[in-house]
This record gives sequence, structure tokens and C-alpha cells, in this order.
Amino acid sequence: MKEIILCKYGEIALKGLNKSTFESVLVKNVKRRLKRFGRFDYFRSQSTLYISPLDDDIDMDEILEQVGHIFGIVKMCKAIELDKSLDAILNDTTDYLSDALEDAKTFKVEAKRADKSFPYKSPEICTELGHTILEAFPHLSVDVHNPDVVVTVEIREKNAFVNAMKFDGAGGLPVGTSGRGLLLLSGGIDSPVAGYMMAKRGVQIQAIHFEAPPYTSERARLKVERLAEEISLYCGDIAFHCVPFTDIQVAIKENCPEELFTIIMRRLMMEIAQRICEKEQLTCLITGESMGQVASQTMGAMVCTDAACHMPVFRPCIGLDKSEIVEIARKIDTFDTSILPYEDCCTVFTPKHPKTKPSLAEVESGQAQFDFEPMLAQAVENTTFKLIRCGEQNVNI
Ligand code: ATP
Ligand code: MG
Repeated sequence: MKEIILCKYGEIALKGLNKSTFESVLVKNVKRRLKRFGRFDYFRSQSTLYISPLDDDIDMDEILEQVGHIFGIVKMCKAIELDKSLDAILNDTTDYLSDALEDAKTFKVEAKRADKSFPYKSPEICTELGHTILEAFPHLSVDVHNPDVVVTVEIREKNAFVNAMKFDGAGGLPVGTSGRGLLLLSGGIDSPVAGYMMAKRGVQIQAIHFEAPPYTSERARLKVERLAEEISLYCGDIAFHCVPFTDIQVAIKENCPEELFTIIMRRLMMEIAQRICEKEQLTCLITGESMGQVASQTMGAMVCTDAACHMPVFRPCIGLDKSEIVEIARKIDTFDTSILPYEDCCTVFTPKHPKTKPSLAEVESGQAQFDFEPMLAQAVENTTFKLIRCGEQNVNI
């Protein structure tokens, strides 16, 4: 029996004239993701992508798991591909669906005929298959309103497909359909979640991390690379930029007012991030900030941060409580890495009493105590680059 996977698109189906662009990005993303698992045939019809394996040794549960991380797919399931005859459908369905049907109490059959020349109409297919299932599983009864299992039969041009189980997909829009942005990725809980949320809405992300050796360790950086690997399961390949930030932090500490230290540091991060965006042709910055979470995330502080850059800064966690962010971090499996204890450059030289309501004028004049430009240019120059490949786990902390 040959198994295939069906993926339903959801929101893309509503995109009118742009639908085919969204579809082709989705299919490209799926193909790229599944390449290393073997060869597949792909075809699309009625807001569904059919993935059919061409090699015998492909683990279809693994494929289903992979597809479950691809944005743009709302529902998915495995299905059996059969000869297009009522006999084949009646003979093979009960075997294939025995696990699902044994555990259920009620079921119904739905039939769809893309090929209208098939000699049996949909109600006939439903009745026949319904009887066959009831004979094989006498404990079942039919419930057309609220069944435990819906058995779906699709009659297509060449074959018939039968499936029973539907799993939730990752939802969202295909990565790459909403432009490209740069995620400021720290080792915390929030920024990986922010990257996930933007990728979910179709943004292709690159990541930038600021490190301050020897105040921050090699392990701290590896932790962030691991987080990038973890979100890459959803986001696809991630270009990872690592910026040496020590000199700048020391210069802030030595030259600027202590209570403004963090906010000036964040403004300089934004300036560097923006230059990387220009090099890489990215159009927005993304952070994991949430309103009021810490002193540098008050409205006033964020206004001062944003004044340092001309690019839009998206903060998808802005309205979430910490507990809600943690819930997402657990769902996407970044939480355990995020809580590993390694230090972040933000925790080096933190002021005792950071200003929570700084005025832009005082921040600008505090920052003007020192000419950071040569150091900013140097930091960009010395930024290192690494490609994190989707789904690969190479980092050992
Ligand atoms: P997170 O959990 O993401 O670390 P946080 O609550 O610790 O967030 P901050 O440390 O104030 O908050 O950082 C706010 C945001 O600034 C982070 O979400 C991240 O986007 C960015 N950021 C902070 N530190 C770094 C860093 N070392 N490298 C890159 N981005 C950073
Ligand atoms: Mg942090």
C-alpha cells in the first residue's frame, strides 16, 4: 500500500490573484525541507499539496513531522493511494485505517469526486464504504454530525486516496512571502519566540547576536547558535551574524552616564544591526521586547531606542505576558535551551539604577560624550557569519 501526505493550505487559499505566488513559495519550502529524506512527487489541487514518495524506504511519520513545522500548512494527514476502483477502496480501507477505527466509537464517510466520470457517485461511495467498515468493526456506529473519525475518500484523475486522521499544521504564511528581516537574537526566552512569530507570518529571518568576550563565554555564544538551530525548524535556513561588542560596551561604561548605559547600548546595537540589514538587503529589525518587562522596555526607553534607527523595529512579543511567551517557547522547544545559565552581554556592566523614563535629549547628549562611529564601523567589519541549516543540530554546548 502506498502512503502519501496531504497538506491543506488555509489562509493562502484566500489570496486571490496572488495565490499562485504564495503556493509556489510554499511548495519550494516543502521541497527544500524534504530533499534530504529522499525523492518525492509533488502535485497541487484545490488548496491541497500532495506529497508522494518515490523511494520505498522513506519514513512517512518523519515526513509528516517535518511538514508539521512548515508555515503555510494548516492541516495535514497521511493517506493511502489506491487504484481508482470501488473494489480497491472497499478492500484496502479497513486494513489501512484499523488503528484509527478500533479506537473510535463513531465515524462517517465523506467522498469527493474530482473525476466526475467515476461510475459511482459520492453518496454511493459513502454507503458502500460505510457498510464495509461496519462489517469489519461491528462496535462502530455512524454519526454524521459529530463523528470521532471522518474517513475521506477522494477520487482523482489517476488514483483514489483514503485518509482518516488530520493533524494541525504550523499555520501562518509560507516563509519568504512577507519580506526579510533581522532578528536580534540573545540567549533569552523572548527573542527566539519573536523570530518564530515573525517567520510564522511569512518573514524570512536572519539573526544577529552581540557578544562581549571575555565577559561572555564561548558557551554563551554556542547557546545562541543552538537556539538559532532550534527555530530553524520553523524558520528555514538562518544566516547568523555574530558581532564583537566588548570594546563598545567598555567605551560606554567609561564615557557615558551610568543610568543610561543600557539604553545607549541598545541604540548602538540597533545601529549595527541596521548596517548589517543594509548589507544583506533586509528591511526590518525584530526584537523580543515586551512592554514594561524591564527598564529598557518601557515605552520611553523603546522610543529612545527606535530614534537610533530609520528602519521599522517589529516586536511581536510586545503585548504578551512572560507566561504567554514561555508557553510558546515550550511549544517550539526553545525553552530548555533558553534557561541554560550562560551570561548575555546585556548583563555585563548593568547600571544599578537604570533610568526608566529617559528623555531622548538626555540620551542623545549622554551618547554624544564619545565618538562611537569608528568602533561601530570596526564592529561591522569584524562581524562573523555562519549559515545555520534548517533542521541540522551541530552545536554542542
Ligand atoms: P530575551 O529573552 O530575548 O533575552 P530579555 O527579556 O532578556 O529578552 P533584554 O535582554 O532587555 O530582554 O533584550 C531585549 C531584546 O534585545 C532581546 O529580546 C533581543 O531581541 C535583543 N538583545 C538583547 N541582548 C542581545 C544580544 N546579546 N544579541 C542580540 N540581541 C540582543
Ligand atoms: Mg536577554
